Amino acid sequence: MKKIISFLICLVLIFSLSVSVFAAEAVKVNSKTSANIVKLGDTITVTVSLNGNAEFKSMALTPVYDENVFEVVSGEWVLTGAMIASFDNKNAAIGYSSAVNKSGDVFKYVLKVKDNASLKDTTIKTEAVIKNGSTVIASTANTTTVKVICKTHSFGAWSKADNNNHKHTCTACGTAELSAHTWNGGTITKAATCKETGVKTYTCTVCNATKTEAIATTTKHTFGNWTQTKEPTCTAKGTESRTCSICQKVETKDIAAKGHSMGKWTTAKEATCEEKGSQTRTCSKCSHKETKDIKALGHKFSNPTVTKEPTCSEEGIESGKCTRCDKETTNTLPKKEHTFGEAVVVTPATETAVGKQTKTCTICNTVVEEEIPMLDKNDAETNVEPDDTVNMDNSDDVSENENSSWIIWVILGAVIIGGVIIIIVAKKKKSNK
Ligand SMILES: [Zn+2]
Ligand SMILES: [Zn+2]
Ligand SMILES: [Zn+2]
Ligand SMILES: [Zn+2]
Ligand SMILES: [Zn+2]
Ligand SMILES: [Zn+2]
Repeated sequence: MKKIISFLICLVLIFSLSVSVFAAEAVKVNSKTSANIVKLGDTITVTVSLNGNAEFKSMALTPVYDENVFEVVSGEWVLTGAMIASFDNKNAAIGYSSAVNKSGDVFKYVLKVKDNASLKDTTIKTEAVIKNGSTVIASTANTTTVKVICKTHSFGAWSKADNNNHKHTCTACGTAELSAHTWNGGTITKAATCKETGVKTYTCTVCNATKTEAIATTTKHTFGNWTQTKEPTCTAKGTESRTCSICQKVETKDIAAKGHSMGKWTTAKEATCEEKGSQTRTCSKCSHKETKDIKALGHKFSNPTVTKEPTCSEEGIESGKCTRCDKETTNTLPKKEHTFGEAVVVTPATETAVGKQTKTCTICNTVVEEEIPMLDKNDAETNVEPDDTVNMDNSDDVSENENSSWIIWVILGAVIIGGVIIIIVAKKKKSNK
């Protein structure tokens, strides 16, 4: 019986404990600082909040911190409508006349970093006891860590942090600052050749860190002398090449064909009166041969007989015995030139258009057409004077001739008119009889 009772008591205890544990976990206090890093002399605000759900009547908060580092400046409850709300720089308390259910920000307090605080990481803890009447429903705490640094740093020398930045570190508080490298103009530490890339090295003017950059291979080769790799012939071009002593690049170019070296023309076949002959010549280098004709000589007569005279419209023929080949044969004689009469103007030339005139051969009546050049106004004027002067000496003779012919015409006219009158008069006398 005793055993059963003690077992039951145990069950009740376990049950009640577990209930209180659940109740304590139902509400939590949280704290948030206005900064993670604070300088000597700076202030930091800690905001305390509640999360979870709980009916409570009172709450007590206690900031816990290193008193060599911080001192309290102020503190105030964010919660409103309380019966009492106090903060005495050590403890904060709030109380309601009836139970409330609050969450979110509840209290804020400000801490100042002492000027002589040690430079290190330090914690700020906020302890909370939440009660509903005399029942403690939560006894909880929350801690944050902040770093305390110098008001003014004492930085050491810059050193390389990475490929992009250098850094310097405060010898007092360990704070490091990063800054981008400031590269100089760079110097060529390995010159590029036609075979290998070069290297250009840049140095940071602040921390002496270095970075390198590849320099592209050059196109400037170091060629040896040209050497003939294929000999040119009379008709085919040859080649020559040269090699770069550094990268072994080979450059090739053509050598022009030399052309034939032809010897003198020699007669291979003599020409005769009726058949053509030939001449040949040969290249002294490649035996290339060229041939050309010699014209047939034509027959040669010592004293030919013209069997048909040439005219301006037909060729003539001569015949005889050739002095070279003894052949009885004929040669043709070339046509004669036409014998043209006076030109007949078809269209006279003007100052703006050419004229046209024809000439007719007096023997074969072949008519040819000729152009009369355009008249030049200036030419006409300038030509007047020299003509006049040339004619000046003969002017008397010309006028005498003209005068004498005029007199002859007058006399002739008078004789004819006189004759006609005589005939008319004689006829009248006859008819009157
Ligand atoms: Zn520092
Ligand atoms: Zn640097
Ligand atoms: Zn080369
Ligand atoms: Zn040749
Ligand atoms: Zn002949
Ligand atoms: Zn003619």
